[in-house]
Amino acid sequence: MPDTKTKLMVEAIQTGTVIDHIPAGKGLTILSRLQIRNAQARLTVGLNLPSGGSGLKDLIKIDEWRFTENDAAELALFAPDATVNIIEDYRVVKKFSIGLPERFVGVFTCPNTNCITHNEPVDSRFTVIQRPAQPQRSAQVLLRCDYCERSFADTLFTEAG
Ligand SMILES: [Zn+2]
Repeated sequence: MPDTKTKLMVEAIQTGTVIDHIPAGKGLTILSRLQIRNAQARLTVGLNLPSGGSGLKDLIKIDEWRFTENDAAELALFAPDATVNIIEDYRVVKKFSIGLPERFVGVFTCPNTNCITHNEPVDSRFTVIQRPAQPQRSAQVLLRCDYCERSFADTLFTEAG
């Protein structure tokens, strides 16, 4: 029973965070973002797990790292429909969905190397100007930099620190 297996993966963590319902294919992107933020984090990844009806999902477990809403905001661009489960003593003590915010402040580096944010001590600011109608599909999210006013697709932020 694949569903039982998925459940066990979620429950097998004592303390930490489980990011569930990541769109299949986005798990590795999120994994690399997490590793940039915390190279010591103990991560377990499940790819292409069955998700309810016919879909597939990715799932990431992080031992000993209890996510805040700020931690989640960084992942919102890549998996706005994901669910964050905070685990203590093998139980889910808090659960929230990530959701795509109106703007990202201080999260991403502007892909435009001429942007003033690279030379001035300011937080990067991006406004979400296009969001997918169906977030589970692979439609693009567009962000506009508040400083250089250029627009960028979400895929451009995958590598940026
Ligand atoms: Zn910019």
